[in-house]
Amino acid sequence: MILPVLTEPNPLLHQQSRHLQPEELKLPKIQQLIQDMAETMYTKDGVGIAAPQVGESIQLCVINKEYTASPNEDMVLVNPSWEKASAFKATDIEGCLSVPKIYGDVKRFKKIKVNALDKNGQPLQFVADGTFARIVQHEIDHLQGTLFYEKAKNLREITVE
Ligand code: ZN
Repeated sequence: MILPVLTEPNPLLHQQSRHLQPEELKLPKIQQLIQDMAETMYTKDGVGIAAPQVGESIQLCVINKEYTASPNEDMVLVNPSWEKASAFKATDIEGCLSVPKIYGDVKRFKKIKVNALDKNGQPLQFVADGTFARIVQHEIDHLQGTLFYEKAKNLREITVE
């Protein structure tokens, strides 16, 4: 099911999300939410989506598989955190399904080490680089109530087509 995506200004987008208990991942409603978030993301051509964007203030996000290291399945991150794996930063353009038509340049770490649980509650640890690392940082920001434009420079409106 495609879910409505909250857009600015919506206070839910600015809340810190709560951690999920691993047992909660066994609930059909959470697994359904994961499927629906993925469907919503692909329908809207998103590269990632975080639960607060569909009104659920929980630490859960989905990354478009085309940008991950394992393109056979969607990447689901539960209670994710990251630390830098290199001191280098890079600046690139970002947008967000919750901030339609607005784009800006965001400086982020190029390479990060991520700790999370997968959709079954199993520990997941990996290193992400480049665009993949950028998307993970953007989605984890959502879980902390931060939107990209708060960090962006050169914000501009771009209407595609
Ligand atoms: Zn976003």
